[in-house]
Amino acid sequence: MLERLEADVCVVGAGYAGLSAALRLHEEGRTVAVLEARNRVGGRVWTQPLSDGSPVDRGGAWLAPRHDAIFGLARRIGVSTYKTWVRGAHLLVDQGRMRPYRGLIPKISPLAVATIALAQARLDWSSKRVPIDAPWTAKRASKWDSRSVARWLERSGIRTPVARDLFEMAVRGLFTGDLDETSFLHLLFLVRAHGSINTLFSIEGGSQENMVEGGAGSIAQRISGILGDAVHLDAPVRCVSQRHDHVLVEANGVSVSARHAVISVPPALALEIEFDPVLTEDRIALYRAAVAGPETKTLVVYEEPFWRGMGLSGQSAEPGSVSEVTLDATPAGGSPGVIASFTFGPVAERVGKLDDGERRRAALEALSARFGAPAASPTDFIETSWWAEEWTRGCSMAHFPPGILTHYGPLLREVFGRVHWAGTETSTVSHGAIDGAVRSGQRAAAEILDRG
Ligand SMILES: Cc1cc2nc3c(=O)[nH]c(=O)nc-3n(C[C@H](O)[C@H](O)[C@H](O)COP(=O)(O)OP(=O)(O)OC[C@H]3O[C@@H](n4cnc5c(N)ncnc54)[C@H](O)[C@@H]3O)c2cc1C
Repeated sequence: MLERLEADVCVVGAGYAGLSAALRLHEEGRTVAVLEARNRVGGRVWTQPLSDGSPVDRGGAWLAPRHDAIFGLARRIGVSTYKTWVRGAHLLVDQGRMRPYRGLIPKISPLAVATIALAQARLDWSSKRVPIDAPWTAKRASKWDSRSVARWLERSGIRTPVARDLFEMAVRGLFTGDLDETSFLHLLFLVRAHGSINTLFSIEGGSQENMVEGGAGSIAQRISGILGDAVHLDAPVRCVSQRHDHVLVEANGVSVSARHAVISVPPALALEIEFDPVLTEDRIALYRAAVAGPETKTLVVYEEPFWRGMGLSGQSAEPGSVSEVTLDATPAGGSPGVIASFTFGPVAERVGKLDDGERRRAALEALSARFGAPAASPTDFIETSWWAEEWTRGCSMAHFPPGILTHYGPLLREVFGRVHWAGTETSTVSHGAIDGAVRSGQRAAAEILDRG
């Protein structure tokens, strides 16, 4: 039977953007109805308890020190964070050889290090010329948007194959897609939105500095608890019809009549919702182009973080391998030990084609080569192929191919009648991250509150 509801605002999607919008509106005394397709809240953030109850994050997990919006929410809601484990040596695997190092820079040739530093400095310098609210208005926007990240990398001047592979993998990890299909303007915008390219790559002082006690999903769970019955799970929205004084949002099993709607789904998924009146051609073109790439995040769980006792941090890199990057993702309590292992873009696609057993064997072999024999015997091995997730389809955010931001960028946040847009892809500061999602939801809520 169809449940019919009325609310001031209907929020579509209960990821961090949708939940943050709903919370702000709720706190301002508006009635909200949140419709979520999945049977859980959190979207691209997905905390799962292991059999002993320890939380592990299958999706978004890390917060940077400057992520004030999500830290603010966590504080208000009473959720704590802790520092990612960084003590010990990191490992770079170069043609089967282990190269241990400390700090940010692997032990590669001084020339390679210098050319990477120069490429990064150039990126940072150009990114400062990108207006954070409107990258498409940068003086050199057309030039930067006509070029792909892959083309920029070819000419970045980085010397030695190992340095090039490492840098390419790090940049590919930001977008996860094919770098031929990613605009250089998007890379500059991303760098601007996070302060510097080093911030995006770093643990200490950077994007991977903090984790959330109880898992990154615990904040979403608490917000959902505050919103109570206003959150409807298993309610994929199929249709959004705007009339002169209201908007009707129809999902499986429930329909909501509201004064305004916030759509917070990933851009490509908005195309699967039927809009009446229909979305404009240019918005459709934007959403068709704004796809997210393949990425696999695998959580390999051990009784203890045994690598710490061996003087290793758990951080490792082997570009192009079945485990391109690893990080220590052990819960706050210090056990069980958790290694998060990633593959990005075309490498994730290639590794994804192996059968499950083969992939697991190959990943454990790679981890054993880095961290020793105990790595071969995990207690859990949890893979998440985000591009196969029906309600996400790609990771960790949509990337914009050349030409898209300058043509269609202004539409990202442009209000469409009674419909407002949220989601990390619409954010400026912390674009693409959990913090960006929170800010986008708060911005969409403010737009609606401003309408009175
Ligand atoms: C593997 C991975 C690792 C990441 N790592 C980090 C990290 O360490 N730090 C960081 O800051 N960020 C990270 N990110 C990015 C971060 O998770 C996202 O930026 C953020 O969670 C996006 O939130 P959102 O609310 O904008 O979108 P989403 O979380 O995608 O929320 C959208 C919601 O809409 C729902 N939905 C979709 N279609 C419909 C429909 N038709 N009807 C109803 N509901 C619908 C979805 O189910 C989903 O719940 C990572 C992402 C992934 C996938």
